[in-house]
Amino acid sequence: MKAWDYLINLVYPPRCAVCTELIEMGNNGNLCSECLDKYESNNGIVVKYMGDSAVKNTNNLTRGYSVFDYSDIKLSIEHFKFKGFKNDGIALGEIMYTVADRNFPYILKDADILVPVPVHSKRFKERGFNQSAVLAKRLAQISGKMCCENAIKRVRYTAPQSGLHPEQRLKNVKNAFEINQKIDVRDKKIVLIDDIFTTGATINECANILIKSGAVQVDFFTLSAAVTR
Ligand SMILES: [Zn+2]
Repeated sequence: MKAWDYLINLVYPPRCAVCTELIEMGNNGNLCSECLDKYESNNGIVVKYMGDSAVKNTNNLTRGYSVFDYSDIKLSIEHFKFKGFKNDGIALGEIMYTVADRNFPYILKDADILVPVPVHSKRFKERGFNQSAVLAKRLAQISGKMCCENAIKRVRYTAPQSGLHPEQRLKNVKNAFEINQKIDVRDKKIVLIDDIFTTGATINECANILIKSGAVQVDFFTLSAAVTR
């Protein structure tokens, strides 16, 4: 280990990217052995069963997958998103890729562009990054796909979806997004990337905008899903 890495590890001891427990120095896997076991047997979750969710008019979404059940990775997402551990997102993006490649490779192979669900500029300033873009960029890097971070803009500042009822969630994100006119999505197959899928209200709103702007297919792929199954 280089001296500089050693110092970094002293100040920021390495933590498991999934459960956030401290892991041994020099462990390059980013996961503790327990989570590594779990993740190696993880087949991902199919989350597109809209019949059960509050999402209506979901015809614009073709397929949807998640890697973790939200409750299994809640701590990690909070660590990454709210405590500024951006690098955790890079490790999580790698896990997303591995699980997809093993279980549903077509979700990325079929894609022309990966588009992260955007955050509002105000939230971007608070957080310093868009968590979905961190995941999407890493996924794009490994899969050789293009990531279009600014294809969709969040034009309205919305309350966090967590804590809202399904109907309120739909209302909350209604007209919150706009297509970026500089990005041509016509005839493109797009995969929307996000950290959490709950009712699908946000993803659905983004898909509608992409289809309206000429995209031929919109799938989604999220790090976690909090759907009731
Ligand atoms: Zn762990």
